[in-house]
Amino acid sequence: MMKADIAVLGAGIVGVAAALQLQTRGREVVLIDRRGVGEETSFGNAGIIERASIFPYLFPRDIKKLAVYAFNGLNEARYHWRDAPAFAPFLFRYFLESAPRRALDHALSVRPLIEACLDEHETLMAQAGVDHLLRKTGWIKLFRDEASFSQGRSAAEALKPFGLRADLLDAQALKRLEPSLREGFGAVHYLEPASVSDPLALTLGYLKLFEARGGRFVRGDATTLRTANEGFGVATVEGPLLAREVVLSLGPWSDLVLAPLGYKLPFAVKRGYHRHFHPQEGASLSRPVLDADRGYLLAPMAQGIRVTTGAEFARRDAPPDYTQVEQSEIFARELFPLAERIEEKPWMGSRPCLPDMLPVLGPAPRHKGLWFNFGHQHHGLTLAAVCGRLLAEMMTGEQTFADPSPFSIERF
Ligand SMILES: Cc1cc2nc3c(=O)[nH]c(=O)nc-3n(C[C@H](O)[C@H](O)[C@H](O)COP(=O)(O)OP(=O)(O)OC[C@H]3O[C@@H](n4cnc5c(N)ncnc54)[C@H](O)[C@@H]3O)c2cc1C
Repeated sequence: MMKADIAVLGAGIVGVAAALQLQTRGREVVLIDRRGVGEETSFGNAGIIERASIFPYLFPRDIKKLAVYAFNGLNEARYHWRDAPAFAPFLFRYFLESAPRRALDHALSVRPLIEACLDEHETLMAQAGVDHLLRKTGWIKLFRDEASFSQGRSAAEALKPFGLRADLLDAQALKRLEPSLREGFGAVHYLEPASVSDPLALTLGYLKLFEARGGRFVRGDATTLRTANEGFGVATVEGPLLAREVVLSLGPWSDLVLAPLGYKLPFAVKRGYHRHFHPQEGASLSRPVLDADRGYLLAPMAQGIRVTTGAEFARRDAPPDYTQVEQSEIFARELFPLAERIEEKPWMGSRPCLPDMLPVLGPAPRHKGLWFNFGHQHHGLTLAAVCGRLLAEMMTGEQTFADPSPFSIERF
């Protein structure tokens, strides 16, 4: 029988980074996934390491905007009424958690993690020899008119007390920075964040380092998790694995393993899509660009220009609906000279979310040796390395670099 100190269930960027951090602290770790490493949500994101995102994505509180959302009038968010009974209770809690006082509390909790997120990735990237994937060029929030630019300026101002720098760009300055953009009344250039040109290559780079240091990746099914004599058992294609401790990092599927263990959470997903395009000859982008008034993002990737969508509220396993990605393509063609599509079908993924937009990180209260690390919402790439560190510090009894209590499952 295979044995390990720790089994990490789920090999997205969150699981792989946690496995590396635990291994760095002398633990023998086996990483388990039912698919290949990094092939799900972590495959398709926009690649931003959001070093400026102290305030997690909040539920809008402007009644007029809510009315427009309710009729699917904005491309940035889409609802499926057929799935409303499944996500309405979550949305209500999300609304409550986004109240200004609560949002500030959450921001203060996550701040130390955001502040360390890029450094922590850079350390792992250097060790893994994949630092060439990193672009320290920030990202741009582009506005199409004066009214929205003015709101964007205020949002950037609000981040100043947190020591976050942003350049305000008028149309000419924007054109100088990103000459291929065709539109843009003004923009905020967030300077601290960075981005990667290939999120899958990053996850695979971390895996390579993990394996070079003696770690193992095995295919297996996390739903077979059982408590055993001295720890936990899980079925893998190489036979049963017995581990003293288990980390659950199944991203959008975490609830499927939690529920049978008796942990019921207000858990939901925000689905998102992407599609790649060749740029027209001579056109290029040096950093991700969010078209704030049209609700989608352009990210330059190794595969081409990746057009990523905002949030879709639907059941995780409901059939895909390509409305947002198709609408985003129309808007994107106004903004940037896109040539032909690269893939036939868009990619779809699911952001794993709790209503306070904070991850669940820490020990399972009723199962000694079981640990959680999931629910990283819009920022799983951003937080993977730093959450892996915080978790590893907790599991090995080190002094933690930040207070982990706001991320405990017991807050629900
Ligand atoms: C369109 C879009 C854009 C985004 N942009 C950004 C961005 O720019 N920056 C950022 O920080 N974040 C971004 N995100 C969010 C980010 O991608 C996610 O938060 C992150 O990928 C979650 O990682 P994860 O490892 O928790 O989940 P996943 O990558 O989904 O990994 C979970 C793993 O669990 C495995 N699994 C599931 N069930 C089982 C089982 N029964 N047995 C074994 N294995 C199982 C899956 O196969 C999968 O590999 C974006 C997301 C989307 C959808």
